[in-house]
Amino acid sequence: MVNKERLWDQLMELGKIGENTDKKKGLTRLVFTPEEDIAKKLIKEYMVDAGLTVMEDAAGNLIGKRIGKNPDLPVIMLGSHIDTVFRGGKFDGALGVLSAIEVARTLNERDVALDHTLEVVAFTDEEGARFSTGMLGSQAMTGNLDEDILERKDEQGITLKEALADAGYDPDKLTDAERAKGSIAAYLEVHIEQGKVLEKNGLSVGVVTGIAGPRWFRITLRGESGHAGSTPMILRKDPLAAAAEIITHIEDIARKQKNTVATVGQFSVEPGGINIIPEEVSFSLDLRDEDLENRNLAETAIKEKIAAITDKRELDLNLQLLHNLDPVKCDPVLVKLAIEASKKLELPTTKMVSGAGHDSLNLSGIAPIGMIFVRSQKGLSHRPDEWSTQEDCFDGARLLYQTVLNVDRELR
Ligand SMILES: [Zn+2]
Repeated sequence: MVNKERLWDQLMELGKIGENTDKKKGLTRLVFTPEEDIAKKLIKEYMVDAGLTVMEDAAGNLIGKRIGKNPDLPVIMLGSHIDTVFRGGKFDGALGVLSAIEVARTLNERDVALDHTLEVVAFTDEEGARFSTGMLGSQAMTGNLDEDILERKDEQGITLKEALADAGYDPDKLTDAERAKGSIAAYLEVHIEQGKVLEKNGLSVGVVTGIAGPRWFRITLRGESGHAGSTPMILRKDPLAAAAEIITHIEDIARKQKNTVATVGQFSVEPGGINIIPEEVSFSLDLRDEDLENRNLAETAIKEKIAAITDKRELDLNLQLLHNLDPVKCDPVLVKLAIEASKKLELPTTKMVSGAGHDSLNLSGIAPIGMIFVRSQKGLSHRPDEWSTQEDCFDGARLLYQTVLNVDRELR
C-alpha cells in the first residue's frame, strides 16, 4: 500500500516552501515566483525518485510519466496543483499532486505494470491568485484559454504575458500544451474537500459526482466625485452607496436558491479620500452552482438588480465577464470504480458534489474525470489553518491507488 509517513513528510516539506516567517500567516506560492520555482524543483525530485520521467509542457505544467505495457492506450492522468492563494495552507492542491506521486512510487515498489501509461501532473496556476485568472495550466492543456488571459495584470502591473516570458515560456505557444480529446482515458484528482460535508458525516473520504462551475465578473460603477461637505445628498451620484445596495441584493438572491453561492471578494474605491464622494468603484463577483440552469437564474436576477440600481442612481456601469466554467458531472464509470475501490479497502465513503472548481473541470472537456475528496478539518481552506489529518490524507491516497488499479483493469 501507499506509504502514510512518506506522503505526510512530503506534504510537510512542500508546505515549508513559501511559508511566512510568522506561521500564522500561512504560505504563499504564486505562479512564476521564486517560491513556485523552488516547489516545482522539489516536485520534480519526488517524481524522479518515484520512477517517473519528468517533462514540462508549454504552459509550465510539470508532468511525470510512467510508460504502460500498452503505450498506444490513452493515458491515465492524475494531478492537481502546487500554487496557493495568498496566505493559504499546506493541503489544497499539494495533497493531490503528492498522492499521485505516491501512487506512482507504490506501483514501482510493488512492481505493478499497468497497461495504461500513467501521467502525474502538477498544473500551473490553478488558484489564479496572482493574475485573477485561474487554472492556466489545465486551460492550456484542454484548449480552453480565457480570451484575454495574457493581458491580465498582477498587483505590480506585470501582465501574465510578461511573467510567462520572464519565466522562460513563450506566451504565443501556450496552445502547444493542448491534448487531443480521447488521448486521456481517465483524469483522477485527490483534493481536500474545502467544506464540512465529510466531517459532518464522520467520513475521511468522499467520491465526487459533479463540480459546481465558477463564473467571475468585474463590475465597475462610475459616478461623480465631489466634496463630501458641500455636495447635498440629492445631488450625488455615489457609486459606493450603489455598490453596497447591489452587494446586499447579490447575497439575497443567492440565499433564495438552494445550492447557489455568490461572493464579492475584491473591492476598490477611487479616489478613496475620507472627504471625497467616490467617483468609481470596482468589485468582483464569483457565482457558482452545480446546476447550470440555477446559476443562470441567479445571474439574470443579479444583472437585473444591478441595472435597476445603476439606472436609478444615474451611474455608468461596466460589467465584464472574467472567467467562466460550466458545472460538470464526473464520469459515472469512474465514480463506480472509485466506490468499488473504497469497498475493497473497507473504507466508508459517500458520493458528494464539489462546490469548488478544480483543474478537473477543464479536463472534463477532453476526458472522463473523477475526484476523491479528503476531509478538511472544520471545512477550512484557503487559510493558513487549513488541515487534514495524516490518517485522512493516507485514506485519500490509498483510495486513489486502488481506483487507478480498477481503472487500468476496466478501461481498455
Ligand atoms: Zn485546489
